[in-house]
Order: sequence, then C-alpha cells, then structure tokens
Amino acid sequence: MTEVLDRYPAPAGFAGPNTITEAEYNRLYKESIDDPDAFWGKVAKRLQWYKEPTKIRDVDLNPDNFKIKWYEDGELNVSVNCVDRHLEKRADKTAIIWEPDDPNAPAQRVTYGELYTRVCKLANALRKLGVGKGDRVTVYLPMVVDAAVALLACARIGAIHNVVFGGFSPTSLADRVRDCDAKVVITADEGLRSGRRVALKANVDAALQLPDVTSVEAVVVLRHTGGDIEMQAGRDHWWHEVTANEPGECEPERMNAEDPLFILYTSGSTGKPKGVLHTSGGYLTYASYTHECVFDLREEDVYWCTADIGWVTGHSYIVYGPLANGATTVIFEGVPSYPDSSRFWTTIDKHQVSIFYTAPTAIRALMRDGEEPVKKASRKSLRLLGTVGEPINPEAWRWYYDVVGDGRCPIVDTWWQTETGGCLMVPLPGATAAKPGAAMKPFFGVEPALVDANGEFIQGAGEGNLVLLGSWPGQMRTVYGDHQRFIDTYFKAYPGMYFTGDGCRRDADGDYWITGRVDDVINVSGHRIGTAELESALVLHAKVAEAAAVGFNHDVKGQGIYVYVTLKAGEVPSEELRKELVAHVRQNIGPIATPDYLQWAPALPKTRSGKIMRRILRKIAENAPEQLGDISTLADPSVVESLVQERFIR
Ligand code: ATP
Ligand code: MG
Repeated sequence: MTEVLDRYPAPAGFAGPNTITEAEYNRLYKESIDDPDAFWGKVAKRLQWYKEPTKIRDVDLNPDNFKIKWYEDGELNVSVNCVDRHLEKRADKTAIIWEPDDPNAPAQRVTYGELYTRVCKLANALRKLGVGKGDRVTVYLPMVVDAAVALLACARIGAIHNVVFGGFSPTSLADRVRDCDAKVVITADEGLRSGRRVALKANVDAALQLPDVTSVEAVVVLRHTGGDIEMQAGRDHWWHEVTANEPGECEPERMNAEDPLFILYTSGSTGKPKGVLHTSGGYLTYASYTHECVFDLREEDVYWCTADIGWVTGHSYIVYGPLANGATTVIFEGVPSYPDSSRFWTTIDKHQVSIFYTAPTAIRALMRDGEEPVKKASRKSLRLLGTVGEPINPEAWRWYYDVVGDGRCPIVDTWWQTETGGCLMVPLPGATAAKPGAAMKPFFGVEPALVDANGEFIQGAGEGNLVLLGSWPGQMRTVYGDHQRFIDTYFKAYPGMYFTGDGCRRDADGDYWITGRVDDVINVSGHRIGTAELESALVLHAKVAEAAAVGFNHDVKGQGIYVYVTLKAGEVPSEELRKELVAHVRQNIGPIATPDYLQWAPALPKTRSGKIMRRILRKIAENAPEQLGDISTLADPSVVESLVQERFIR
C-alpha cells in the first residue's frame, strides 16, 4: 500500500490541438528553469497590457534583503483582461453559467457582453460611494453571478477586494473587515444553501456592531432571495438602486503590475488565518496560464469548479483564470448533497460540463452513497476531472476515475496553496501519466525540493519538508499589514527558500506525493508517518468512509497513533470491527503504523472549506480539550463536542 504503482496515462483520443505532450512539458520545464526571465516574459504576452513589462523578475528570498517583484514596470487592468479583451470575438459567448441552489429554479447564462455592462455599472457605483485605488472592499456574497461582478468591479477601479466566505459568522467576518480596514462591504439580503436561507445582511449588521469595526462607510446590498432585512439609512444601499442610472461603461484604472489585487485569508487549518496579499500582473498571468495548461482548456469547454468564491480556488479557478482565458465558467450556488447526492452529476448533464474540478472531501462524501446516484446521469460531456484541497486517498481517486469518469477522463490532482496563487504541482493531463494520490510533477518555473529537519537537501527518493526554490509570478507578496509575519512564516525556517508547511515524498521515478502537513507528521519510534498514508489505508477498507490520523505523546515510542474513523452509511461500529481496522492498517503499511487508539467519529471537524482539522483532533487525542485554540473557521463546532465526550482517556 505504501506505493501505488499503477499509472494512468491519458486515454487514447484525449489530446486536442493544444494539449501539452510529455516532450513539450520536458522542453518547456527546462526552459522555464534555465531562463525564467525569458520564459515568463513570453508567458506575460498572453495578457493585454497598457505597458508591457520589460523588467520580468526581481526576487531575493533571503530574509535580510527580501523582495519579490514580477513585471514591475508593467501596467494593466485585470478586469479589462477578464472582460473587455474578449468583446471583439466573444461578446456573445457565455462567460458564466449560474446554477441555483434549487435545481428547479431557472439557471442563468451571462455573456461576456452582459458581464461587461454589469461590471462597469457596479464599478461606477462604487466610485460614487468614494471607493478608489487601494481602498479595501469586503465581499460577503453567496455563489451568484454578482460575486464575480463584484470582484471584477473592484479590480476595474483598483480597489483591493477581500472575499469572506458566506458561511462565516459575524465574528469571523468582523475579524477580517477589521484586519483589512474595509471601506465598503458588498453583501446580499440572504444566501441559499440546500434550501435554507443564510442571513448574510443580518450577519453584516451584527459584525459592524462589534468592537473596533469602524472603517466601513457603506454597505451595498444585492437583492437575492427577497427576504426581509433592515436597511440602515445613510450606510446601506441597494445594489440595483446604486447601479440603475450608471452608464454601462467605466474607465478602468491603469494599474501597476505590483499593485495589490486582493487580500484573502487562508483556511485556518493550522491556526489563525493569514491575510494573504496577491498583486495584479503576476497573479493574473499565473492564474490564466495555469488554468489553460492544467485543464488543457479548449474554446468549447464548459468548465465547472465547485469551490466557493471565498477560497483561493474560487478566485483563481472560477473567476480570474477562466475569465482571463475567455472560458465558460459555472458558478454553483448549492451543495453536492441537495436535493440528493446526484446533484453534481445531473448538473454536469444539464450544462454539458466538460471539465469538472472538486475536492477530496466532496468525493469521499459522495462515495459513501455508492455508484447509483452517479449512474443516474450520463456524464458523457465530461473529458477531464480535477481535485484540490487535500491529498486524495488512492481509493477515492480510483472511484472518481472509474465511477465518475467512466475510466475515460484523466484526473489532475492539483497541489497548491492560497499563498501560491495558482497550481504548483500537477500531472498535466496529456503529459504525465497520473499515479492515484500523487501530485506528480512541478508546473513550469516551479522548483520543489525536499529538506530534512537540519535543512539538508534530500536527494533522489526520500521524504521531507517541501520547500520551493526561486519564485513564480503568482506567489503572494505579503501578509497584509504584517510583512514581518510573511518573512517569518515562510522564509525563516530555511533561509532563501519558501517553506510550504507540507510534507512530501519523492518516489524512485522522481514523482512527488504530498504526505500532509509537516505539523501533522507522526513520529513513531523515529519513523515518520504521514497522515495521508494512514488515512488512505483506512479509507481502503470497504466499511470506512473517512478517517483522520494524529499523533499523541507516548512514553516509549515518542509518539503514538490515534485515528478517528467515520463509517459508511449503514455500517455499525463494534469491537470486532475496531480490531479488524487496526489489523488492516498494520497489514497495509506495517507494524510500525499500528494505531494505538481508534475512535469512532460520527463526523470529523473540518474547516469551512472542507479540510480535516487535525490540530483539533490532536488536542482531543492528547486529552487536552481545553486547548482547542482558534475554532472560528470550523464548519460545525458540535462535531467537536461529541468527539471530546467519546475520547479515550489514558
Ligand atoms: P492555513 O494555512 O490557514 O492553515 P490551509 O493551509 O488549509 O489553511 P489553503 O491555502 O486553503 O489553507 O490550503 C493549502 C493546503 O492544502 C496545502 O498546503 C496542502 O496542505 C493542502 N492541499 C491543497 N491541495 C492539495 C493536493 N492536491 N494534495 C495534497 N494537499 C493539498
Ligand atoms: Mg496553509
């Protein structure tokens, strides 16, 4: 089990006119490393610049002389690149397909021409509200077309957007508004998720009353559900009213490549979220180029990424990458389980989706319900699948490949972070035969390396901490308001390199496997065991839906292994099954990986973006539930209570 040896090359007939082949990948990769300036200078030409950059890269990752600059004398406007630029040839092409929460409510299709008008009207309205270049605007919206419009309108006038996931509480919203001193908040009356209303405007009202939230001068409110809300005179404005009389044209702000585009807070899997800042030229170049290469984008594709716009995946691969590339992108308001667990698949048929990109957490959840909901839909339009967010268990990978993709769609397992702006490691679909569970190969310009605890490079096959040498245009530029934290967090552990925080293994073929977060690695009697490996072994068992592994202090072994297991629907916990699962892990990985404790988990604590929060599980395993730390980004805090109750007390 430690090494899944089978490989999955793209099926015959997959390649299209622009598919990157293995030979091309090797050639371009070499070019990108040998002469990054030439390589990224050429790539930047895919954008439309007011002034093309002549200085490509100015980077020094040593903490004493630190700088990261890309295209620093270039000038452009991001919204012009995502909308105006397409008007000549694609004015009538669908830019956005909106699929509402309720499958029986009408879906919407918005052309590039219509998108242009909507963006310009809102941009004008924001300017009238006093928003200008460099001002921060918090966006707290449901998954609607206007979420994309809001981002692009900010970009058009040079305002820095900060999207806050619509599922966050008033406190989490207030933390972010306060941290970035937002001048305006854009929200909706209510959101809709699985038929339930989410009180967005009421949450904004509550957030703005919390201590030290004083920066907000105006709130723009989209009418979405028509639900009853309070409007505060002087502060609150209806979107449709402020845009009604604005012209459908708006002079874009001429931005420097290094001017900030947005601030986005990380998921908070490992602690307090960081306000990641991305800039304009480098970010858009990287988002659009990776989107085209990774998804082997074709003009006729219907592309659907199921992430929320509140996460970086929503920014780079729902809005900026696809729209910069003139693609058709789907925005889905709902959830995979509503009205039932065939929703993804029937929606793929409905909109003839050809590229589908989702997260392992969703795949594992849908696997629990078996094949039948998938088989309800034909999925004939699909040609490529993708995954992001966590290591994908090989078992889940195979299900995605065989059941969802009918064995004919390559899977791109994209490893990246909020900090990286775009995908950094991936098996490009026409170039690299995938191995289930592996991120495989670096994207162009990306130089991964593995280091041990002493900072020594690990050569050849081995496992260690994943660092990146050099820079790429989509790299974050700072932690908003705390540049020192940026340097301390990412560039101090291994000076001169970017430390990802992730553990990684390189196999004998030179392919990369993310093993989980470095903080989560379990060290049993000197053997380092990745959480991904343990969890994948458990998920391999026919009765297991999901699992999480953490370490706890052990007198003899240094650390012991504590696992949490969620069973598939209909399976019942028993002592016998517990023993069977422990033996199963032992058999699949080896005696060293035998779990000391196995706790049944009706559900696992996850971030709002669906990632397992192991740091919380670690505290429970360590019998220290009073030290759970920041749980504000937790999706369902009640999950924690029951796990605390049922924990093994040693
Ligand atoms: P925080 O940094 O606040 O703790 P986070 O790391 O979960 O939160 P993100 O930037 O959303 O915030 O997630 C990036 C992380 O997600 C990566 O560092 C990695 O651990 C994990 N990840 C993302 N994609 C993959 C993938 N394809 N394979 C393995 N791990 C992945
Ligand atoms: Mg992180």
